[in-house]
Amino acid sequence: MAASSLLRSLSRISRRGCVGGAGPSPFHHSRLPYSPFSTAAADAVERRGFAGLGPTAKGEKARVVVLGTGWAGSRLMKDIDTTGYEVVCVSPRNHMVFTPLLASTCVGTLEFRSVAEPLARIQPAVSKSPGSYFLLARCTAVDPDAHTIDCETVTEGEKDTLKPWKFKVAYDKLVFACGAEASTFGIRGVTDHAIFLREVHHAQEIRRKLLLNLMLSDVPGISEEEKRRLLHCVVVGGGPTGVEFSGELSDFIIRDVKQRYSHVKDYIHVTLIEANEILSSFDVRLRQYATNQLTKSGVRLVRGIVKDVQPNKLILDNGEEVPYGLLVWSTGVGPSSFVKSLPFPKSPGGRIGVDEWLRVPSARDVFAIGDCSGFLESTGKDALPALAQVAERQGKYLAHLLNHVMKTGGGHANCEIDVDLGPAFVYKHLGSMATVGRYKALVDLRQSKESKGISLAGFVSWFIWRSAYLTRVVSWRNRFYVAINWLTTLLFGRDISRI
Ligand SMILES: Cc1cc2nc3c(=O)[nH]c(=O)nc-3n(C[C@H](O)[C@H](O)[C@H](O)COP(=O)(O)OP(=O)(O)OC[C@H]3O[C@@H](n4cnc5c(N)ncnc54)[C@H](O)[C@@H]3O)c2cc1C
Repeated sequence: MAASSLLRSLSRISRRGCVGGAGPSPFHHSRLPYSPFSTAAADAVERRGFAGLGPTAKGEKARVVVLGTGWAGSRLMKDIDTTGYEVVCVSPRNHMVFTPLLASTCVGTLEFRSVAEPLARIQPAVSKSPGSYFLLARCTAVDPDAHTIDCETVTEGEKDTLKPWKFKVAYDKLVFACGAEASTFGIRGVTDHAIFLREVHHAQEIRRKLLLNLMLSDVPGISEEEKRRLLHCVVVGGGPTGVEFSGELSDFIIRDVKQRYSHVKDYIHVTLIEANEILSSFDVRLRQYATNQLTKSGVRLVRGIVKDVQPNKLILDNGEEVPYGLLVWSTGVGPSSFVKSLPFPKSPGGRIGVDEWLRVPSARDVFAIGDCSGFLESTGKDALPALAQVAERQGKYLAHLLNHVMKTGGGHANCEIDVDLGPAFVYKHLGSMATVGRYKALVDLRQSKESKGISLAGFVSWFIWRSAYLTRVVSWRNRFYVAINWLTTLLFGRDISRI
């Protein structure tokens, strides 16, 4: 069979056993002592004998359950057609994080709210439509045969007064968009002593720690050695996130610390530790530029492998001890323990394996997008990078695919219909950008390091970087916040209050 006709036949799904909703109830639990749903919804759930959301009935809208409010899930929910689907989002956070600008919030260039977009603004149906919900919970397991997921509420910080509870949700279509986890490579002490930079609460922790160390180092009674340690900021990982954070820190030191903490200005230092080259995805000319720029800004670049992390110091593979007051860990991502636990075949990198249409082939009505998913080896496709631009475009693609399936009558569970799914997902890289501080950035608009195209470094790139991200910020409200924050920082410096 010719490759094109094989693809076409694969892209068609045949009509088999469509029963309207998610089928007969596969589980019967008593109602939970406290229902997170509205009374009407909870009653509907109760009537069907579910502790949670039961299967949809014939004549009701089909239910798309989305796990995660990151780049992939949020984009999917934004574009999903709510005239034909109810959307139920399960996620431990109720907002999407605009990650490219997260590093700027750690030092106060931007406020935390400027990079967080509430889901209810992205998809208003979750707070308005009677069958659509946002559920503050984590998915813990999936039963693909029964078309149900198990969830547990997230009551972080309230565990003593509010015990987390479990519930089930039946789905017609299930989309995994649950991202990845920071890699620690099993190095002892990383999880206990380092701070990752992936969520807004990480950025808040970094900012509080940085300002605490700055203030304590000014208090009489502290030894010289302890002052140097407290003010030593160490970043591990020389990818775009580690480099951008180091650049932001050095900017903060040059501009704000020198003015407002002048007593300790000669003690504060930034060290960036990387096992190989920094910014290895950029070409050698841009890498060299970044190296020079960071060094000029006072960032010490160290080539080494971290072997052990202790409360106040880390040990490198050559035995060198590096004392630190703030340790930020940014060495890339890998599959989360939740993804590892799922009963699906995995892609070569250990992510949830998908076909060219982002379906999980071993389970009906299940899809995976973003950092948690990867092409199965059988597709012959290369692994896609863990990037927002991949996740966002997969979310957009899958929303259109699901809308198309719904319009052809296949929205409900097990309603596989004879429909051409259209072209498979194809990723075209739009380029990479990274700031290196002091109004300088790298912009590489080539598809790969070998291809032709624009690649530049310096102030113009920094201007392109800022303009590009300002236009990409999800809402006009946050675009406004970001622009105002940048202007305020330019005119008055960064906010250094430790709140
Ligand atoms: C600081 C930083 C800067 C970055 N800069 C860039 C950049 O400039 N350009 C770029 O292209 N990429 C960038 N990235 C990478 C980009 O952010 C990720 O590739 C992107 O977020 C992946 O999107 P996602 O939706 O797959 O996962 P995420 O955005 O990580 O979202 C995952 C979601 O799933 C939820 N979740 C997790 N577990 C569960 C569960 N068990 N049940 C339910 N929900 C769950 C999480 O709470 C979260 O809401 C950056 C990343 C970081 C951390």
